Amino acid sequence: MNEFLKLNDTLKNADQKAISLCADVFKKIDETTLYNQWKVLSAFREFRVSESHFNASTGYGYDDFGRDNLDKIVAHVFGTEDALMRYTFESGTTTITTGLFGVLRPNDKMLILTGEVYDTLQGVLGHNKAVDGSLTDFGVKIKVIPLKNDKPDIELIKKELKADTYKAVYMQRSRGYSLRPSLTVEEINELIDITKELSPSTYTLLDNCYGEFVEKEEPKADLLMGSLIKNPGGGIAPCGGYLAGTAELIEKCAYRMTAPGVGREVGATLGHNRELYMGFFNGPNVTGEALKTAIYASALFEIIGFEALPRYSDKRADIIESILLKTPENLIEFCKGIQLGAPVDSFVEPVPAPMPGYDDDVIMAAGAFTLGSSIELSADAPLRAPYAVYLQGSLNFNSGRFGILKAAEKVLNIQK
Ligand SMILES: *Cc1c(COP(=O)(O)O)cnc(C)c1O
Repeated sequence: MNEFLKLNDTLKNADQKAISLCADVFKKIDETTLYNQWKVLSAFREFRVSESHFNASTGYGYDDFGRDNLDKIVAHVFGTEDALMRYTFESGTTTITTGLFGVLRPNDKMLILTGEVYDTLQGVLGHNKAVDGSLTDFGVKIKVIPLKNDKPDIELIKKELKADTYKAVYMQRSRGYSLRPSLTVEEINELIDITKELSPSTYTLLDNCYGEFVEKEEPKADLLMGSLIKNPGGGIAPCGGYLAGTAELIEKCAYRMTAPGVGREVGATLGHNRELYMGFFNGPNVTGEALKTAIYASALFEIIGFEALPRYSDKRADIIESILLKTPENLIEFCKGIQLGAPVDSFVEPVPAPMPGYDDDVIMAAGAFTLGSSIELSADAPLRAPYAVYLQGSLNFNSGRFGILKAAEKVLNIQK
C-alpha cells in the first residue's frame, strides 16, 4: 500500500500489530452488523418497500405513504410502537427539543439520571442559566443526578424517585464529549426498570445519539431520539432526525413537530424519502464500519504509547473513541492528520479557535460529504488537559484506517 501512504517501519509494524489485535473484535462487530442488517432488510421486505415510496410530495404533504411507511419501518426495527423520521429536523438537538416539548408541560418535573447533558441540550433545558424559550423558561422543573464514579448513581436515583413525582426521566446513552463511559443497552434498561418499578407512570426518555445499531436491540425507553447525520442516517441522509417510542408519546411529539391537532398528517417530503430509506437501510453497515475504525484507532494508539478509551477489546456502547494525547501539540497534529486522510477538504489545515459555549479553544477535523456529519470520519477536541481527542465515524473502515494512520504519523513526527 506504500503507493498511497508511505509509512516508516515503526508505523508499518504498529499497523500490522493493530490489525491482528483487532481481528477477534472485528468478528464480533461483523456478527452484530449481520444481525442488524438482516433485521432492517426483513423490515423493508415486510413493509413492501417499492419505488413508489420514494415519490416526492409537495405542499401540505397529505397522504405521503412513503413517509408514513418509513415511520412504520423505523418503529419495527427499533422495537417501538411508532416512530417519526423526518429530514425537517435540522439537527439532533432539534429532534430532542421536539421530543421534550412534546411530552412535558408547565410544572412537570424531569429527573436526569445520567449526569450533566450534552452541551447543546443545556440551552434547551435552561437549568444552569436562564435561556429564553428553554424548558425551564416554560415552567418545567429539572433536576440532574450527578454520576458517581462515572456511572449513574442508582441509590440516589431510587431515593429521588421515591421522594418526588416525576413526569419523566431523561437518559443519555453516549458519553458525548466527556470521558465517562457510554451506557450499554443493558445499563439503560436497568435504569428504565428501576424507574418503572418505583414510579410506573413516569415516562423514560432517551438521547440515543451515536448508539443506534451498536448492539442488536435498542433500549426499551418510552421515547428514543436521535440524529440522521449519525448512525441511523447511514451516511446517506442529508439531514434530519427520528423519534421512536410508544404510540402515546409519538402522537404528542407529532403535535409539537407540526401543530397541535394537525400532527403527522402534514409534512411534504420534496423527494427526500429515497435518501432516508437508503440511509436507514445502510445504518447497520456504516455503524459497523465506524466501530471498526474506532477499535483500530484505539489499538494503534495504544501500541504507539497513548491511552485510548474505550480500549480496543472493551465492550462498546457507541461509536466514539477518545485518545488522550497528553499535549496540545499532539492534539493539533492528530487533527491535521485526520483532515489529511479525508475524501473532502483534505488540503485544509484545521486550527484551534474559540467556539461559542466553550471556555477553551476547540479544534475540529472533518472532511465530510455532509456538513457536520459525524458518521463520517471526524475528530474534535477542546484544548485543555488531558488533551483528549474525540474521534468518530468513517463511511468505511478502509478509508478510516488511512486517516488514523495519517494522524499517527503526524503525532509521531513531533515526538522527541
Ligand atoms: C450529537 C449529539 C446530540 C445532538 O447534537 P446535534 O449536533 O444537534 O445533532 C445530542 N446528544 C448527544 C449525546 C450527541 O452526541
